[in-house]
Amino acid sequence: PKYYAHLQITLQATEAYKTGREITQKADQILNFTKTGQILVITTAGSAYYKNNTSEDVLEGILNQANGTISFGKGNLLLLRKTRLDTLDFAFITKKGNDLILAYFKNASLTPTYIGTISQNMTQTQWNNLTQKLGNDTFPIASLANAWALGLPADILREAAFHGHVCLGTISGYAMIETLLKYYPPSTGTGGAESTSYIVIGVPGGSDDDVFVYAMDATPGKRAYIGYNTTDDPNMVGFIRWNSNTQRGTLIIMTYNWTELTEQFKRETNATVEEDTVTELKFNAWAVQKLITNPESLVKILYAFDNLTEEQVNYLAGGVGSTTVQDAHGLDMEYILSQSNLVNATPENKTYTKGNLTYDQLKGIGIEAANIAKELLKQAGIQVEKDSLELLVLTSAGYARLNDQDTSPIWDGIYEMLGSRLSRKTLLPVHSALWSQLWFTFILKDGSYATNIIGKPGGFGKFSFNITEEDKILYAVQLIYDPIRGFIISNDTKGPIYDIGAGWNYTNPTVSRVFKNWNGIVTIANAWSYDPPFDMLMVYLFHNHVCPGVSPSYLIADYIYENYPRGENEKYIYVTTTDYCKDDGLLLLLGVSPGQGTYYNQRLLNTISSSIEGGQIEGILIIWNEKLNIGKAVIITYKGPSFNTGANGLRAYIDWYKGKEPTGVRSQYIVANEAQVKYITKDELNSILSGAAGSPSGNAIQYIRGLPDRQLSDLIPSVPGTPGVPGVPGVPGGSSISGGVSPGFVGSFVGAVSGATSVSAAASGPGSGQGKAYEVTRASPGTKSAGAGWYIYGVIGGIILVGLAIFGFLKGGFKV
Ligand SMILES: [Zn+2]
Ligand SMILES: [Zn+2]
Repeated sequence: PKYYAHLQITLQATEAYKTGREITQKADQILNFTKTGQILVITTAGSAYYKNNTSEDVLEGILNQANGTISFGKGNLLLLRKTRLDTLDFAFITKKGNDLILAYFKNASLTPTYIGTISQNMTQTQWNNLTQKLGNDTFPIASLANAWALGLPADILREAAFHGHVCLGTISGYAMIETLLKYYPPSTGTGGAESTSYIVIGVPGGSDDDVFVYAMDATPGKRAYIGYNTTDDPNMVGFIRWNSNTQRGTLIIMTYNWTELTEQFKRETNATVEEDTVTELKFNAWAVQKLITNPESLVKILYAFDNLTEEQVNYLAGGVGSTTVQDAHGLDMEYILSQSNLVNATPENKTYTKGNLTYDQLKGIGIEAANIAKELLKQAGIQVEKDSLELLVLTSAGYARLNDQDTSPIWDGIYEMLGSRLSRKTLLPVHSALWSQLWFTFILKDGSYATNIIGKPGGFGKFSFNITEEDKILYAVQLIYDPIRGFIISNDTKGPIYDIGAGWNYTNPTVSRVFKNWNGIVTIANAWSYDPPFDMLMVYLFHNHVCPGVSPSYLIADYIYENYPRGENEKYIYVTTTDYCKDDGLLLLLGVSPGQGTYYNQRLLNTISSSIEGGQIEGILIIWNEKLNIGKAVIITYKGPSFNTGANGLRAYIDWYKGKEPTGVRSQYIVANEAQVKYITKDELNSILSGAAGSPSGNAIQYIRGLPDRQLSDLIPSVPGTPGVPGVPGVPGGSSISGGVSPGFVGSFVGAVSGATSVSAAASGPGSGQGKAYEVTRASPGTKSAGAGWYIYGVIGGIILVGLAIFGFLKGGFKV
């Protein structure tokens, strides 16, 4: 009976895989790319859920069907960042002469919604036709496709897929980093909290901010990104390089100017740029050329000040380190320019030589790394088998550059030798700054610890618990790649093989000093060995380590999706008030980011909850309706769980996220809304996003609390046809509708709300089938109910490959 159950489970598990394969096969029939090898795939798989589960198996399907023409290392499989609520979409793009041809599959359908050109050379009519078919996805797909065709490096393309599209902000963000590294490079003793090199003070809404979060690893959860709307110029950014030896910092403020650059483009090419149109694609191409030939020409250094004191960093960023010591004020230019102690900083003038390794040479580094690791393990009597799900490779490749060159081809080398890759959860790139070291850690999951270790206190990072039989020995070997000296094996008299499982302190305590990036490696490796869901694993990688602090993010994200699901025309905006590790999880899980203008970081000192004892006010969730220009503000409070002595907190968090009830919990966690949910107008939204500066409290939370309790109907504008402010649909039975309807709006909107009976439930779109936009109480969306789906997911992990082989979806060479 057990075997039978397994078969059933396997069938369910392969559905995502099958979908990936079948759509790829279909796309190949249309575009014939496995013949030409010219192919780019952009998909929402990886972040969108498929049938209530994470969708990494879809990626496996794409890769296996594509016959080696698609790989992570070639950079031609881009994961467009969405949320679990979004549909599973696929864009296959191939080059045909000077043209780019797209086959687009929406919502996992095998019938493409569009086949045709996506080239920047297309006509306006062709663009309009494309827009009709792809809707909001037109510019994201078109900008990524054309940037790929231009040869934009794969790591920049991945940043753009994280951000949502390629735009001037993407390109200028990289230009700013190059300028920063040339004149104000990181040096010994400089850095922010959690081993970051700079604290970025951004102004959300400018796309450049996502570049800093992504390519500098300046994530908000590591307190390396702070910022809200303190100036009208979202393209401005401040970089603080803090020197912990001298206790002084340098503040470099840069910007890029859309108007000036588009005017320059017009002078040079005679073309006018309109945002989100085919002209912006041409402008992107122009800006990419500038990035390659003269990055500095895209940006301006407005100020560079030395002698920044700790007090001044505290004022701007809320603290130099992990602890919040006061409210952060962000890029407050009035304050900065009034400080009399600041002096002009002296720039360095570093030059960097750009590497020119080919794809094959870079791939060769991966092959060599894998061979060295295999050999070292073999010498210790440990045989590594290809395609093993028990083998994990952690690496900075793909983020860390080698002589300023993208290193993703290295992944393909490792895959070739070991069969490890992201979609199998066996090759995990750890978020790193692009100037960081290139390293590899190979980890093999072995058996349980000896009986004299089981039961003893063990752990990793900030997790301490009693070691059980479930905690496995993890044999690890680490290699650093130096462009001049080649491979260096992390080693002392005990090495080179070290156990980094939960009992490492008993088996080889020196490893914590021998391995580079110790905290990140030991925590991610152990967490991986507990088999967390794919999106949880992605949070660990993005945060670059696992800690108790990142854990509330999954619980808060679940709470938000269950209680405030996003409806048609709605987007999430999250304003953080407590800045710590969990913010990185919220960015990924809610699909928000500063560069999109959907994540703001206000870092307040006093966030004690008045509704839940011992709780903290973590942030403000805004569900914003872009059509109505009205939103709801939810103040989110969280209180962490506590665990029995010896219990494993990380396992508990993973269980909760899988919908299982963990053991060893002394008191439950609480996620709740701190106060009455408030409807807000555009002006009120702007006020919240600028930190409620100028309001009597000067505090966004107090500001929201002070807003009147209103119904949606109170906020609907009554002026007919006000440009930019949509009127109200004439909904039967709606109360207090004052006829303020702009005709065009009604036409498009009324059709979409047929059957709605009151204003408060009017915004549900056709076919959404869930979550009406403005009900105060919502039905659970059922996107991830506790139970069956997740349980099954947990079980299939180990046997999925057997299943794939049985059902013939697997093409050769896969040992189990
Ligand atoms: Zn952008
Ligand atoms: Zn952390």
